[in-house]
Amino acid sequence: MITIPPALQPPSRLLLGPGPSDAHPRVLRAMATPLMGHLDPAFLVIMAEVQEMLRAAFRTSNRLTLPISATGMAGMETCLVNLVEPGDRVVVCNAGFFSNRMVDVAQRCGTEVTEIKRPWGEVFTFEEIAEVVRRVKPKALGVVHAETSTGVLQPLDGLGALCRETGTMLVADTVTSLGCVPVELDAWGVDAAFSCSQKGLACPPGLSPVSFSQRALDVLHNRKTKVQSWYLDLSLITQYWGQDRSYHHTGPISMIYAIHEGLRVVLEEGLEARFERHRRNHRALRAGLEALGMRYVAPAAHQLPELNAVYLPAGLEDLPVRKRLLEDYGIEIGGGLGELKGKIWRIGLMGCNSRADVVYSLLGALERVLVQFGVVVAPGAATAAAQQAYAAGN
Ligand SMILES: *Cc1c(COP(=O)(O)O)cnc(C)c1O
Repeated sequence: MITIPPALQPPSRLLLGPGPSDAHPRVLRAMATPLMGHLDPAFLVIMAEVQEMLRAAFRTSNRLTLPISATGMAGMETCLVNLVEPGDRVVVCNAGFFSNRMVDVAQRCGTEVTEIKRPWGEVFTFEEIAEVVRRVKPKALGVVHAETSTGVLQPLDGLGALCRETGTMLVADTVTSLGCVPVELDAWGVDAAFSCSQKGLACPPGLSPVSFSQRALDVLHNRKTKVQSWYLDLSLITQYWGQDRSYHHTGPISMIYAIHEGLRVVLEEGLEARFERHRRNHRALRAGLEALGMRYVAPAAHQLPELNAVYLPAGLEDLPVRKRLLEDYGIEIGGGLGELKGKIWRIGLMGCNSRADVVYSLLGALERVLVQFGVVVAPGAATAAAQQAYAAGN
C-alpha cells in the first residue's frame, strides 16, 4: 500500500539564482484561472494577444513570434533545427556554458561548426566575428546575448548587417536578456531569437518565446530536407499559432495564461523603465558585493545587471555558504557552471526580484553568513555601500 504523502508545503524562498526567478504574484494568480480548450475561440484571442505582446518585448514586427511549449533550451533547438540542414556551416561565438551548448546542438543537426573561442567572461569584438563570418560564409551565426554562466552582455550591433553580406542567419540566445536589458530584434537584424519564461519575464519555467524574421522564414520554406524534430518544426507549429488554428499539440493553457499576465506586467511598467530599474538595483548590489570583497567575472562595461557573477572570497567553500543562505534565510543563489564551478556565485536580480528590499535582504544575509564562515567584513559595510549607490544614482 502506498502511503500518500502530505500535501505540498514548499518552504518560502527568495529565488536569486540564474533562474527560475520568482514568478510575479499576478502571474501565479493568472495560472489559477479555469482552463479553456486550446482551440476555444476565446483562447485564440489570448494567444494572439500573447504574440502581440511578445513582439513588443522583442521589439520586432516578425509575424512568426510565439512561445514554444517547453523551456529555453527548446527555443535554442527550435532556432537551429529549423534553419540549418546536415552539411551546413555554422559559426558560434563560444565563451561560456550556453554558447558551448549551442555548438553541441548545431553539431547534432549534422552541421560543420566553426567556433570563435574566448576565455569565459570575455566579450567578442565585431572585427573578430566579422573576419570569421566573411571567411566561412556560414548558414548561421550563433551568439549568446546574455551569457548566464559568466554574467557577460555580448553586444549584437552590426552583426545583422554583417550576416546580410554573407547570406547568414543571425541566431541570438536572449534567454537571460529579454525583459531585463534592451533586446532589439529588428534594429539589430536578428533572424532568429529565443528566450524563456522564468527569468526576466517573471513567470514559471515552461515556455520559450521565439521569433523568426522574414529572411529566416524564407530559409525555412526553402529547405531541402525535413526539419529533424517533429515537435519543434515551425512549419507545423505555425499551423496552430497561425491562421489555420489546427491541432498540433495541446497548448499548455495555464502557462499561456501565465505569460499573458507576465507580459502585461512588463509592458505596463514600460521596457525603458524596466531596464533602468534593473540597472539601478544592479549598481547597488554591485557596490555591496564589492564592499564584501567580491570581484565580478565580467568586465564592468559588459556586465549584465540581472545576473551578477562574482568570485568567492578567498579560502571559502561554495556549497556550505549557499546551504546556509538557503536554510537560514530562505535565499537561493546559484553556483558556477563548467569551469567556474566552485569558484563563483551567480546572483540574479531578474524581473520582479530587481528591487531595493531584495538587494538589502541578500546583502544583509550574505554578510552575516560570511562572518559565520570566518570572513572579516566590517558590520553593515555592504548595505551601507548599497545605500550610497542608491543615493548617488537617483
Ligand atoms: C537558462 C538559459 C538557457 C536554458 O534555458 P532552460 O529554460 O533552462 O532550458 C539557455 N541559454 C541561456 C543563456 C540561459 O541562461
